[in-house]
Amino acid sequence: MPIRRLSQDMVNRIAAGEVVERPASVVKELVENAVDAGARHIEVVTAAGGAAFVRVSDDGAGIGHDELALAVERHCTSKLDGDGSDGGLAAITTLGFRGEALAAIGAAAKLTLASRRAGAAEAWEIAVAGGEVSSVRPSALAKGTRVEVRELFFATPARLKFLKSERAEAAAITDAVKRLTMAHPDIRFTLAGSDRNESDYPAVGGDEARLARLAQVIGGDFRADSVAVDAVREGVRLSGYAGLPTVSRANGLQQYFFVNDRPVRDKQLIGALRAAYADVMRRDRHPVAALFLSLDPAEVDVNVHPTKAEVRFRDPGLVRGLIVGAVREALAAGGIRSARERATATIAAFRPAPARPARPVAVAGRGAALAHEFAEPAQAAFRVVEPSARIAAEGGGDTDALARPLGAARAQILQTYIVAETADGLVIVDQHAAHERLVYERLKRLLGGGPVARQILLIPEVVELASEDAERLAARADELARLGLAIERFGPGAVVVRETPSLIGAVDAGRLVRDLADEMAEWDDSAGLGQRLDRIAATMACYGSVRAGRRLNATEMNALLREMEETPSAGQCNHGRPTYIELTRGDIERLFGRR
Ligand code: ADP
Ligand code: MG
Repeated sequence: MPIRRLSQDMVNRIAAGEVVERPASVVKELVENAVDAGARHIEVVTAAGGAAFVRVSDDGAGIGHDELALAVERHCTSKLDGDGSDGGLAAITTLGFRGEALAAIGAAAKLTLASRRAGAAEAWEIAVAGGEVSSVRPSALAKGTRVEVRELFFATPARLKFLKSERAEAAAITDAVKRLTMAHPDIRFTLAGSDRNESDYPAVGGDEARLARLAQVIGGDFRADSVAVDAVREGVRLSGYAGLPTVSRANGLQQYFFVNDRPVRDKQLIGALRAAYADVMRRDRHPVAALFLSLDPAEVDVNVHPTKAEVRFRDPGLVRGLIVGAVREALAAGGIRSARERATATIAAFRPAPARPARPVAVAGRGAALAHEFAEPAQAAFRVVEPSARIAAEGGGDTDALARPLGAARAQILQTYIVAETADGLVIVDQHAAHERLVYERLKRLLGGGPVARQILLIPEVVELASEDAERLAARADELARLGLAIERFGPGAVVVRETPSLIGAVDAGRLVRDLADEMAEWDDSAGLGQRLDRIAATMACYGSVRAGRRLNATEMNALLREMEETPSAGQCNHGRPTYIELTRGDIERLFGRR
C-alpha cells in the first residue's frame, strides 16, 4: 500500500483511543477541566458504569459562544500559549494542557458541551457525535459548564469489548473522582447515578482541610491512624499522611500519590513507599498513604503519557530518598501509637451478637433498653481484668506509671496478654509481638556498635539442611557472625552452629538456622548489606522473644511496657501486626452505653 495521509477523522479516532481508555478516563478528563476552570462545586452523574451516560457539571468560568467550537477541536487549549512563550510545557500548573480530551471524547462518543461564560447573557451548547460537530445553539444553564457523554465507544465498537462489568467501571470512576477530590479539599464534589450510592464531599477549609478531606475519602479512622509527613529536600516538598503500620491492606489501592496536585500512579513512588515501610510491615501487606509532592514544574515531565497518569522526575533519586526518609522519620517520630481501627474492631467484637438473648436486667425508665443490651458483655469484660487489685498493690510507683502512654500493668491474661491501666483507659499488649520488636530494635542498635555479644554453645550443633540452603548460609557466614551467630559449613548438606547471640538467650539453633535459610532463599540480589542484616535480625528476634505462654510478674510486665515506650516503632511487631491495642475511657463508656 502506498504511504498516504490519514483523514482527520481517522487521526482523531486513533488519538481518542489513547486518551479515553474507559469511562473512568472520560470522568477524569471532565472533572480535571472543571477543576482547571476554578469550579467550587463539581457534580458527577453516571449510569451503567459510565458507558451509557456521564454528566459532569461545574460552576466554573465557563466557555464563551465563540470558543465552543474550538474547545472540541483537537490540539486547542486555553492552558498553553500557542508558541510556548510563557514557559511552555516546563511551566504547566493546570491539570490539562494537551487540548485533546473533548475532541477525543467527541470522536468516540456522543458529547454535548453546554456552557455559560461568567457575565454572559446566555448559555450556548455544541454537540459532537463520532467526530461530527454540530453548530452552536442556545442552551439553558445558569452558570458554568455541563458536559454530557452518551454511548461511549459507539463509534469504536472494538473498544466496547474491553469494558469490564458495569460495577467494575463504576468503581473505577469512583476511584478516579476520589483521587481528584483528595487534591482539592476546597472544592465540593458530588458523585451520584443509578449505578452507585451517592457520595458528597463537602468543601473543607482551614489548616486541617487536607486531612479532613482524606478522612472523608479514606474513612474517619485515617485521621487517628496516620502520621503527618512534611519534609523538604532541595526544593522538593513532600507532605501528606502515612498510615500506621498496623493498618495495612492486602493491596495497594489505598495508596494515593500526587505531583503538584495531580493524581499519579507511579511505580517508583510506590516502590519508595514500600521501602519506607520495609522494616515495619510484612512484604505481602501494603500501607495506606496519601502523599503530595510539590516541586518546580520544570523538574518534572507530566507529558510522558496521554492520560498523564505517569510522570518523570528530573532527579528520581532525590524524590525516592525524600519519600523513604521522610515517611520513616514520621513513623518513628509519631511515638508509640495504637491503631484506632483496632479499637473500633475491638468494640465491635465486644458487642453482643443480636441473636443471643440477653438476660433481662431489672432497670426501669430511661436507659433501660441500653442496660438490657449491654448487660452480658459488660460482665465479660470485667471478669477478664479481675486479678488487677493484687498486682496494683505489688506495683508501687503506680501514679507515675499510670501517666505513661502504656500505663501500669494490672494483669496478665491467658499467659499471653498484658492488661495495663492508663490515665485514660486501658491497653492490652501482646507480650510476644512486643518483645520480638524490642529484641529486633536492640539487635539493630548493637549492629551499629561493633561486635555483638555471643554465647559459645557447649556442644556445637550440627544442622542438616538441603545442600542449597547450607551453601546459602555458608556464603553469608560473615554477615551472620556480625549478628553473633557463628556457623560453618559441615559437609555438603549441613552446617555447624558454634555460637549464638547472647541477646536472644537459649534458642533452638536448628530451627533458627533453617528459618534463616528460608529467609535467604527469598532474597533478591539487589538487597544491600544493611537491608540483609536487618532481615537477619528480624528473623533472630523472633527466637529471642518472650514467647506467648510465659508467666510474667508485675515488674517484668512494667519493664516491658517502659521499654516499648522508649523504642521507636514498638507499636507493631516486625510483621506489621499491632503489639498493643488501646481502649480509651470514651470507648469503654460506649461499650456500656454511657455515651
Ligand atoms: P485541555 O484541558 O488540555 O485544554 P480539553 O479538550 O480538555 O483540553 O479542553 C479544551 C478547552 O476547553 C480547555 O482548554 C478549556 O479552555 C475549555 N474547557 C473544557 N472544559 C471546560 C470547563 N468545564 N470549564 C471551562 N472551560 C472548559
Ligand atoms: Mg482537559
